[in-house]
Amino acid sequence: MTDSPRHSLDPADWPGLRAQGHRMLDDMFDHLETLRERPVWQPIPDAVRGAFSEPLPKAPTDLAAAHARFMTQVLPYAVGNAHPRFMGWVHGGGTAQGMLAEMLAAGLNANLGGRDQMPLEVERQIVRWMRELFGFPDAANGVFVTGSSTANLIGLLVARTRVLGAGSRATGIGAEGQRLTAYAAASAHGCVAQAMAMAGLGSAALRTVPVDGRHRMDVAALSSLIAADRHSGLRPFFVVGTAGTVDVGAVDDLAAIAAIAQREQVWFHVDGALGALGMLAPDVAPLLAGIERADSIALDFHKWGQVPYDAGFVLVRDGAHQLDTFASPAAYLARHPRGLAAGSPWPCDLGPDLSRGFRALKTWFTIVAHGTEQLGAAISHTCALARHLKHRVETTPALELLAPVALNIVCFRYRCADADRVNAEIVADLHESGIAVPSTTTVNGRTAIRAAIVNHRTQASDIDALVDAVLACGAARTGPSRPGATP
Ligand SMILES: *Cc1c(COP(=O)(O)O)cnc(C)c1O
Repeated sequence: MTDSPRHSLDPADWPGLRAQGHRMLDDMFDHLETLRERPVWQPIPDAVRGAFSEPLPKAPTDLAAAHARFMTQVLPYAVGNAHPRFMGWVHGGGTAQGMLAEMLAAGLNANLGGRDQMPLEVERQIVRWMRELFGFPDAANGVFVTGSSTANLIGLLVARTRVLGAGSRATGIGAEGQRLTAYAAASAHGCVAQAMAMAGLGSAALRTVPVDGRHRMDVAALSSLIAADRHSGLRPFFVVGTAGTVDVGAVDDLAAIAAIAQREQVWFHVDGALGALGMLAPDVAPLLAGIERADSIALDFHKWGQVPYDAGFVLVRDGAHQLDTFASPAAYLARHPRGLAAGSPWPCDLGPDLSRGFRALKTWFTIVAHGTEQLGAAISHTCALARHLKHRVETTPALELLAPVALNIVCFRYRCADADRVNAEIVADLHESGIAVPSTTTVNGRTAIRAAIVNHRTQASDIDALVDAVLACGAARTGPSRPGATP
């Protein structure tokens, strides 16, 4: 057989590809530089949506033509979380530097499941930095995952293995698993209940701890629930404290939960998806006191850390438990003292993924390009903007604050009759206007307009634009002429 380079997918015309690549890069720089001039979001026209229902192509398409389709059919109709007036849900804004790092990672096409490679040292550098940030010991280990939904699941699985023993990986959770109970506040993220379901323990075995007036876990109720379960012969094993609840941004009293977990000998996991990186901000870090006592922490670099999606991470105080949970002796993954199969343990020993991308690179670039002071200042600024929004709400008679503001999330609403329905309509009106994108949530049974200010690009004028637009939409929906009112 002779060489036949025509089976390679490399370009036949490298100079042409280079020129096209530079155009693509420039288009994204232009996009990021002029974000503010465009709508945050716009509805997807039917023709555009329909353009992605074509048959599987047999023949190649010119890269420039594919790129033109991206520019006209994909880019304008994304969620818009890079935009400074995106405040919906909890989404990070990303950075241009992070985008460039993604390109480098894709060019390298590194697979970070394991083996002796420098990309893994980059990931281990992040693990070391996270140990330092959270005051964890050298025995702590960690691993990048998609997001905190998976990071919380990993925390739970490690705790489950610790309490049932590594043998349970072979035998299953058995009758003992039926007796395990876990605890999280009513305000905890839904992925915790989902993790209980996926771990085979059942979401019903997750006890819902009531919250206090500040939407924080009622720690006295936590103690009572644990005592009641023990009394019934159950086995409490896992408690989740949340550092920044997804609905209102409340921070559970992590030190109090740590003390109870220690006394009760249950695993203390912190869901820090939103808030854990507040440790980078000197004015936010004190609110997280107690996080350094966690057995495991889930966090998202793609939220407050501004790393492009996706970049979730889990840190486990005693890395040996993580190995007990995930490491397995497959012949094709055998380690060797030298050569490329050296350098154990590998990330595939620390979580469920074998093939995994180089999420650590965009995280490393983001951290070194800005330094922790700049990243921390951006986090503080989002909290200052939230206080500014809170002030605007409190000083505007047509608006009402629905929850205390602890971090960077503000829940409020337009005062009117039928307010639940009208406020949901106001939010949809805002989305369609392209002016600003908040989302909705329910606070104490009432529909709230929720502004989660995560993006480093957001400024005070963006908050003012949101308030003005809410007032305008509210007046339009409730005023005498009611234009746009739905029948
Ligand atoms: C976002 C979030 C999650 C889920 O994290 P993903 O990265 O979206 O998987 C879990 N908990 C809290 C508190 C969150 O804010």
